[in-house]
Amino acid sequence: MSTQSFASHSPAAPLSAARVAAFAGHHAEHCRIEVVGATGSTNADLLARVAADNVSGKSPSALTAPTLLAAEMQTAGRGRAGRSWLSAPSAALTFSLAWPFSVPLQALVGLPLAVGVTIAETLADFGVAVQLKWPNDVLYGGRKLAGILIETATAPDQQVWAVIGIGLNIALSEQLQQQIGSRSANLPPAAAQDRDLLLAALLTALARNMQQFASAGLADFVERWNRLHAFAGQQVLILDQGKTLHQGVALGIDHIGRLLLQTEPGSTPITVMAGDISLRPKQG
Ligand code: ATP
Repeated sequence: MSTQSFASHSPAAPLSAARVAAFAGHHAEHCRIEVVGATGSTNADLLARVAADNVSGKSPSALTAPTLLAAEMQTAGRGRAGRSWLSAPSAALTFSLAWPFSVPLQALVGLPLAVGVTIAETLADFGVAVQLKWPNDVLYGGRKLAGILIETATAPDQQVWAVIGIGLNIALSEQLQQQIGSRSANLPPAAAQDRDLLLAALLTALARNMQQFASAGLADFVERWNRLHAFAGQQVLILDQGKTLHQGVALGIDHIGRLLLQTEPGSTPITVMAGDISLRPKQG
């Protein structure tokens, strides 16, 4: 760890790839760490590099190792199904981690849930207790603190990659929160005093847990996810483009990450696949 790591730091200080690397633990030793000022979407950038030709060595930007790309500002941050993820310079951590997997693409369906657990457990180390909303949101005080967008691609050499995009709110202005429309949250300031340190902790935990997911799938994460479940035992609606598909009591997730929903008291729960559906607490 370098001596500069100990200097007092402000949340508005620019991200530093060198400091993130200095803080990162051994699980992330083999990860490349890159920081850019502004870009459209870190997920889009890494996906383009997965598609680049790494076979003939023609493309210097092609990915050859797990790669973290963090941006001070994303101008076209993405959510699921073409939705937008908004942020402002230095007001968030917006980053993506491209990770190579030696499993078929379909084995990655539970990955967003493992990533949610990873974010929640890391934030707990920073003194912040968050909860998870199925399938891909991190809530703080019932409001959305972070979003997860995982996109997968196969490289020209047939390597399967997951690009794990995360947006974590740190200091969104009131105005931006209003623009977002849905209920959003910022991290408590004490936890985000040093964004490099937080990013390094997230990278280290992600690297450790991606290795665990690659060897054992979602198995090690199911109980952990269910302990963090924001709506356990509560009445919820499952919506598809605003239309109610199901309603019932959210019980938790099953071994492959489907939501278990009890639609009638005493009945066997149904399983709900993520797809492009949304979960909302039932009012009243
Ligand atoms: P749903 O809540 O319906 O399940 P989702 O959580 O899957 O949707 P995503 O696609 O992950 O939604 O994220 C995009 C949505 O998140 C946007 O439509 C907007 O409502 C909200 N959003 C956008 N930017 C932010 C932000 N910085 N913080 C919190 N919420 C945001």
